[in-house]
Amino acid sequence: MRELKIGILSRLPDSYSCKRLVEEGTKRGHKVEIFDPLKCYMNISANNPSVHYMERELINFDAIIPRVATSVTFYGTAVLRQFEMGGTFSVNPSGAILKSRDKLRAHQILARKGIGMPVTGFAHSTEKIDDMIGLCGGAPLVIKLLEGSQGKGVVLAETKKAAESVMEAFKSLNAYFLVQEFIKEAGGADIRCFVVGDKVVASMKRQAKEGEFRSNLHSGGYAEKIKITPEERKTAVLAAKTLGLKVAGVDILRSNDGPKVMEVNSSPGLEGIETSTGINVAAKIFEYIESLELKVHHSDKQRC
Ligand code: ADP
Repeated sequence: MRELKIGILSRLPDSYSCKRLVEEGTKRGHKVEIFDPLKCYMNISANNPSVHYMERELINFDAIIPRVATSVTFYGTAVLRQFEMGGTFSVNPSGAILKSRDKLRAHQILARKGIGMPVTGFAHSTEKIDDMIGLCGGAPLVIKLLEGSQGKGVVLAETKKAAESVMEAFKSLNAYFLVQEFIKEAGGADIRCFVVGDKVVASMKRQAKEGEFRSNLHSGGYAEKIKITPEERKTAVLAAKTLGLKVAGVDILRSNDGPKVMEVNSSPGLEGIETSTGINVAAKIFEYIESLELKVHHSDKQRC
């Protein structure tokens, strides 16, 4: 395997995920560097699209591993798109990241493909709250802020009255939200399937702490290795593929009617999954990159 030149787009060079990717890539004989996407600047021209960083032009990269935080999606994906314009391969394409980050759009795309998801409603106006609650099967309901993450902005409304109040409160703050059937039988647990290429390479179950329905580790949940069913495997791979993601964390709830996809994350963290499963997920990402017939875009410029 020849040495590959790989760039990681991330604002968190000291995070577990970035450190592991650099460590693993270097061990495999590649040159791996991290760039803060907000510090990149670009020349958007047809004949010489370029990306610059600290007065240096970033050229001749074989692949980019984007780890763009949700807070910088707009600029981060623009930088990634610029690499793509120059012919550089991105493990997750900018368009796929944008699709997965727009929760409503992602839901629509996955639903169209027939992928199981909790019954979900969305509205602009709260005028017909009653009907909307009925559409989602009535209380209990989960109400989620569209822009939320790490379980913040996810509320369980046990009664219709509570659901109405939460929806009215969110609306008065001009926030968009989803209303979702509560999958009670999931028992406060969800399954994170880590997809690389077209395989689930590792999976963990996250269990909410006592008295909590959100299993996010940030909400005090804990993670352990889990063996998933063939149907869960198929669902996770199809969800990532449908959104065009090659590295994805697909979050699934176990329901009485089979797996329900809750979310597809385009920058899944490595710490929880590697520590709970003992699987070298960083290596799986490099194996995938190495397995591709990478068309290296060497311009006539010097390697920098
Ligand atoms: P975030 O993206 O902020 O993490 P999620 O949509 O993943 O928000 O929800 C946080 C947690 O709440 C999930 O990990 C899951 O444990 C729980 N949860 C979310 N939606 C449902 C649902 N419809 N039914 C049951 N539990 C849910």
